[in-house]
Amino acid sequence: MGTIKQVIEGDYCIGCGVCPLLDSNLSIAMNDDGEYQAVRSEDTETSPADVVCPFANAALNEDILGKALFSKQQGIKHDDAIGYYLKTYVGYAISDGFRDRGSSGGMVSWVISQLFSSDKIDAVIHVKESSEQGLMYSYQVSRSIGEMEKGAKSKYYPIELSGVLEYVRTHDERFAIVGVPCFIKAIRQLETVNVTVASRIQYHIGLVCGHLKSTFFALSEAWEAGIPPQDVTLVDFRYKLPGCAASDYAIKAEGVVEGEKTEVIVPTRELSTTNWGYGYFKYNACEYCDDVLAETADITCGDAWLPGYDADSGGTNVVVVRSQEMLDIIDSKMDEVHLEEVPPEVIAQSQRSGLRHRREGLAYRLYLKDKKKEWRPTKRVQASDRIPYLRKKVYEYRMELSEQSFVAFREALKTTEGMKRFVQIMEPIVRKYRRVDNPLHRRLLRKMKTVSRKIQTKLNK
Ligand SMILES: Cc1cc2nc3c(=O)[nH]c(=O)nc-3n(C[C@H](O)[C@H](O)[C@H](O)COP(=O)(O)OP(=O)(O)OC[C@H]3O[C@@H](n4cnc5c(N)ncnc54)[C@H](O)[C@@H]3O)c2cc1C
Ligand code: SF4
Ligand code: SF4
Repeated sequence: MGTIKQVIEGDYCIGCGVCPLLDSNLSIAMNDDGEYQAVRSEDTETSPADVVCPFANAALNEDILGKALFSKQQGIKHDDAIGYYLKTYVGYAISDGFRDRGSSGGMVSWVISQLFSSDKIDAVIHVKESSEQGLMYSYQVSRSIGEMEKGAKSKYYPIELSGVLEYVRTHDERFAIVGVPCFIKAIRQLETVNVTVASRIQYHIGLVCGHLKSTFFALSEAWEAGIPPQDVTLVDFRYKLPGCAASDYAIKAEGVVEGEKTEVIVPTRELSTTNWGYGYFKYNACEYCDDVLAETADITCGDAWLPGYDADSGGTNVVVVRSQEMLDIIDSKMDEVHLEEVPPEVIAQSQRSGLRHRREGLAYRLYLKDKKKEWRPTKRVQASDRIPYLRKKVYEYRMELSEQSFVAFREALKTTEGMKRFVQIMEPIVRKYRRVDNPLHRRLLRKMKTVSRKIQTKLNK
């Protein structure tokens, strides 16, 4: 097993904020890159919190936790891409405007509303607008459906759990929690050693996860939209554009410009930092993660980025149900949702790029770490360099894009050119990345296929 010392020193900390509950030597602070990180007040080799760190404790990986949690249920199956599952769906919530308010189909908020209305929980732990100066979003506790609804939508923003876990420790109540895969895993690991938390957090709702962003993401988006970093107060990362594909969404940035309250809506396709493949402002820890589908959650929801569903601007979820209780909730309220049961391959297909980056890509990144003889977390994926040359380059340039995005943004902050300077610095790396990600021979092959298809259609007429 690794240690939190190794995790912090190797830059593998995702800043989940679970460790301070078990070790007062640890606290969470935001670093200069706008990322939460664990900070140690004393240099000890080991910590009582090593067992709960999602990047230190390899003994309790997602397969082992998933098996202990779900494998005894009748009808349970396992898939390497999505983990354990009872049923897999694509769809959205119909009732009460959850879909309109949500990022995709509103299923996460709908499930929480069901837990409240059937008196299964007293509160939900999720991410909402923060009242703290300079902080857009934070983990908070909502105690009713009305309070919970205000926290809908995805926050591509740093968040951490230490404050809300302190609340759980001191309040004898029944909670549900919403989180990205590594946060849910950390909570599950905590529950194996802390009976109080285990008895109080009763439902775990996972979000599919591409990667987590530093505060620079929100600031850069708002800046390109016309609100400078010092003037921005809030960014809605998922503003739906009626009539457009669900993946063709906008951001809404709010701030005060020249003394006037300002609100700007800009489609993400017009912004330079929103291509998720580039991985701008990504936590380094995310490069060493192999859980895309929150495999330890009772239910996981994501975006159905799939032909046939993406065209609907209202938004559509992919849903993986792992616990019988969650399945019963859905089954008993089928009139409030529009869900179509699909094979697990459809769910994996919707996360094709994320899975490839964290299977094939992770294997290569682990290989590079091993080659340098550096400590790295033990993953379910084995280190390997047995991939084509161009794929190696794709993963190498992605790491460079991510690392340099922080440098370029800090540089942009120092100049009067703003985001133009950012784009100027990133452009050469983007160009070489695109050349390997979409090389000439592949473009030509695609073109030839299209032409041959057209000829074939004409001949058949
Ligand atoms: C950082 C991040 C990366 C993601 N990457 C992908 C991806 O690659 N592919 C994909 O298909 N889906 C991804 N998602 C999930 C997707 O964006 C939606 O959150 C999901 O489809 C649920 O939509 P909904 O309409 O059902 O949720 P809603 O009804 O809008 O509810 C969302 C709930 O999630 C909570 N929440 C929002 N942000 C966070 C956060 N950062 N941490 C914990 N809780 C939060 C909210 O408080 C709310 O309760 C990501 C989400 C996040 C936060
Ligand atoms: S438990 Fe979370 S915050 Fe603590 S070191 Fe590990 S990843 Fe970082
Ligand atoms: S990509 Fe993995 S490590 Fe990064 S936030 Fe998502 S679940 Fe956590």
